[in-house]
Amino acid sequence: MPASRVVVVGAHPDDEILGAGGTLARHVREGDEVHALVVADGAASRYPREMMAALGKDAQRAAEAIGFASIKLAALPDQRLDTVPLIELTQLLESLLGEIGPHVVYTHFPSDVNSDHGIVARATWTACRPYSQPRLRRFAVFETPSSTEWAWPVGDASLAPNHFVDIAATLDTKIAAMECYESELRDYPHPRSSRALRERAAYWGSLVGRAAAEPFRILREVT
Ligand SMILES: [Zn+2]
Repeated sequence: MPASRVVVVGAHPDDEILGAGGTLARHVREGDEVHALVVADGAASRYPREMMAALGKDAQRAAEAIGFASIKLAALPDQRLDTVPLIELTQLLESLLGEIGPHVVYTHFPSDVNSDHGIVARATWTACRPYSQPRLRRFAVFETPSSTEWAWPVGDASLAPNHFVDIAATLDTKIAAMECYESELRDYPHPRSSRALRERAAYWGSLVGRAAAEPFRILREVT
């Protein structure tokens, strides 16, 4: 298969790694061109302003660890994406995606407890309308540890994956990339600890006969 252009759209710096780091590292190894779009600054609501620059540096280091062709940090207001008109976010993503022309897009599961994730998922879905992104072959949503499992428990509250990516060969790369985000890592048993991320990958892998996997739900696929 010819090389694909792949885009991961995350709400905050680290979501791109937590959700799909092993899968994206596999894309890179297989010769695909992988780009990351990070919508919010990930710091303004929790940390002093200087942390935003530090998180940006962490994001660049994590991007190098995975091998992204580019990472774009849009730096919209963290935990306050509901203050940005949805049309503006959608148009921003439509424009950024249009410059890349992706064949594959990964983003958040819409019901995550973190409302920024749901907003990004909604805007990305709209920005990926078939006539807006005509090359797109696959749109899939990922699990974000410490958010998807805590989804508001009504309606479509669990990922119910229908697509698993074997990440046995790239799990170490995912963990190394996540460890670039020192401020976001936590001690075990928190879901954002290195050990819990390994255990989670082992759990998802065990469901499909693999040593490690990342789970996705495909929302649209064209072949
Ligand atoms: Zn997030």
